[in-house]
Amino acid sequence: MDQVAQPSVKDLQKSFIYHLQHTLVKDKYSATKADMYLALAYAVRDLLATRWLDTQQSYYLKDAKRVYYISMEFLMGRTLGNALINLGVMEEWDMALKELGLSIEELQEVEWDAGLGNGGLGRLAACFLDSMASMQLPAYGYGIRYEYGMFYQKIVDGGQHEVPDNWLRYQNPWEFDRQEHLHPIRFEGRVVEFTDRDGSKRFSWVDYYEVMALAYDFPVPGYKNNTVNTMRLWSAKASRDFDLNFFNQGNYIGSVESKMKTENISKVLYPADHMLEGKELRLRQEYFLASATVQDILYRFAKKHDNLTELPDQVAIQLNDTHPVLAIPELMRILIDERKLTWEAAWEITTKTFAYTNHTILQEALEKWPVPMVSRLLPRHLLIIFEINRRFLEEVASRFPGDTARLQRMSIIDDSGEKQVRMAHLAIVASHSINGVSALHSEILKDDLFHDFYEVWPERFNNKTNGITQRRWLKHCNPYLADLISEAIGDKWTTDLDELQNLRPLAEDSEFRRRWMDIKRMNKQRLADHIYQRNCIQISPDSLFDCQTKRIHEYKRQLLNILQVVARYNRLKEYPGLELPPRTVIFGGKAAPSYSAAKLIIKLINSVGSVINNDPAVNQQLKVAFLANYSVSLAEKIFPAADLSEQISTAGTEASGTGNMKYALNGALTIGTLDGANIEIMEEVGKDNIFIFGLTTPQAVGLRSSGYRPQDYYYQLPELKTVLDQISSGMFSPGNPGLFRPLVDNLLNSDYYLLLADFDAYMDAQADVDRLYMIPDEWARKSILNTAGMGKFSSDRTIGEYARDIWGIKPQPVEHKGIHHW
Ligand SMILES: *Cc1c(COP(=O)(O)O)cnc(C)c1O
Repeated sequence: MDQVAQPSVKDLQKSFIYHLQHTLVKDKYSATKADMYLALAYAVRDLLATRWLDTQQSYYLKDAKRVYYISMEFLMGRTLGNALINLGVMEEWDMALKELGLSIEELQEVEWDAGLGNGGLGRLAACFLDSMASMQLPAYGYGIRYEYGMFYQKIVDGGQHEVPDNWLRYQNPWEFDRQEHLHPIRFEGRVVEFTDRDGSKRFSWVDYYEVMALAYDFPVPGYKNNTVNTMRLWSAKASRDFDLNFFNQGNYIGSVESKMKTENISKVLYPADHMLEGKELRLRQEYFLASATVQDILYRFAKKHDNLTELPDQVAIQLNDTHPVLAIPELMRILIDERKLTWEAAWEITTKTFAYTNHTILQEALEKWPVPMVSRLLPRHLLIIFEINRRFLEEVASRFPGDTARLQRMSIIDDSGEKQVRMAHLAIVASHSINGVSALHSEILKDDLFHDFYEVWPERFNNKTNGITQRRWLKHCNPYLADLISEAIGDKWTTDLDELQNLRPLAEDSEFRRRWMDIKRMNKQRLADHIYQRNCIQISPDSLFDCQTKRIHEYKRQLLNILQVVARYNRLKEYPGLELPPRTVIFGGKAAPSYSAAKLIIKLINSVGSVINNDPAVNQQLKVAFLANYSVSLAEKIFPAADLSEQISTAGTEASGTGNMKYALNGALTIGTLDGANIEIMEEVGKDNIFIFGLTTPQAVGLRSSGYRPQDYYYQLPELKTVLDQISSGMFSPGNPGLFRPLVDNLLNSDYYLLLADFDAYMDAQADVDRLYMIPDEWARKSILNTAGMGKFSSDRTIGEYARDIWGIKPQPVEHKGIHHW
């Protein structure tokens, strides 16, 4: 596998000390822990460097077809641990550092998370990069190098406070600026029409101003295969011209100010998940990413090709949601205005190149941009979008004569109110593939959200159920469990997760169950220590760790969970002898700063927690902990310690979920609705090994359309009524009794996400959980069977399907030649 001898422990120590002394200019007396981390990072980076060069050179020499994954978010987390795992040098480094009196775990904790994403969508992009490199696919991730990533969440008085994530203030050993890869990005100005020498109508974009996109490259190592792919993130820089023009006008301070304004484009990640903010700066960011990436792709293509009709044979572009969809009119613009192709030729190239992944059906998350804003910012692109739409509607009209309602529904331009560009429609019309991210979600796209388009192009629609990388989400985050699994069934699961099914017979082996649960208990103890340090809450590792960690959103129904917690509290108070297994209910997740209901839910969770945690009457049987700043590195501590995974979104709202997969992979049992990938998890682990409850998607849709009356449940379910009355009357906010009333009023008067309708079924399912947890052997069996059933949910499987069905690309193994000679 590796053509170059692996370095010995002595070599590693030498390299570490070399970097400490020569790169950081520190010795063991002056070095801080951060210096030690950096020395290690630089030494590990050296192992990546020649593999990275070899990989890029081999793609070039083979002229391989490349895939470009464009995403506004990459939620990478820490790099060091992943690099150690994928290079296959974790144990050697562990030994090398131990001999120097250092702990590799502690040094990894120094690294700041790369949090350039909100949640599931950004983490999916990160898992996909790992899988593409591990499967030796010639792939690139393209995104934005935000100066400020996802905000750091602090909990103050039970509420969320946002602190800027200035992740670049620390030395970042994992990025390389590529000053030579610089593309001009144009904004504003106007379009002039003219007739060229051949008598064709042409357009030229004039009076624009330019911002430069500067490339920063990050290595993406594959798992033990010598492949190192590239994630390229763009940073905004004022152009030289800009500097000269402005500074020559004599207004020095004003010039610096406008220079800073143009560089603001890559300043900050928008922290709203599943919610469109509609800010102009966000649209600028989207075009900045789209344009820089398309220019880069064409530049790389041009090194070996001059016939643009070959582009779809050399390039596949995957759009991670609609955020980068302006890449479509941008490619059209370049092909037509700059390369002088006909519309028809340009369109054929474009549609064969692009593919679109939809991530949500929530109306408030579907991107729509006001036509006047697009017109001012990107006048040429708006004309191109209009022309795409004109031709498209013509086609629809000829297929469905007289159906004007259909034309309005399908138009890329929504003119029901203020005219808006529907980005999803643009993506669908210009892509040869449109996919959802779970079986259920992809069906909803065909049957409901995009049904009109499905009728026109059924062959374009397909499903790619999401996955997660087992390298980070089992091998790295849960090393003891990973080792136990490898000892039992070998380590092929690291690249073929279906191997986990060989664990099934071991679920019947009592000794194996004991070892399995011993590791779970150890992981729980570690999380308990962490929680004690952060939250000052003492929790028992023998209690059931019941976890709901994900973005805070009404559709995810953290509120339903907390209603159940309050009901449980009431039961324990009323029946002190009640035989329930002790529970620790753990929450984690950020709310968008502008999402007041989500912030109030965080405050409610903490307020309920402080009442329960301080009530000696229930103290031993129930605790609630909200872990601040849910992020990749915190998630890596939570999943291995979880007994129960809460996946309780209203059926039909969660496109897939990937947190559900990480929990089950680490042996947690799921309590969940028939939503997103939960359905497929149920199919894989078996109905007997999962707690499914609540309305199905058709039932939820039916209930809403037949006139849902949440108050019926309030009056019919005395426990529910008590809980809602307690919350709205101020039992958890004595200083401000009306604080949580808006949450309850919303439930009683609208309850769009049907919490009250599902409450009773949820309580019953939780009772089933309690009963099972009291039979430790049975719980252990099911825990093992959950891990054993997770083979399908490797992102390797997902990426294999994208590569085969959508991208048409093949593995390109890399030969590592070692130290390069001139
Ligand atoms: C996996 C993951 C998510 C997605 O969680 P869901 O439960 O699928 O919404 C969000 N944030 C982080 C940090 C994750 O690791």
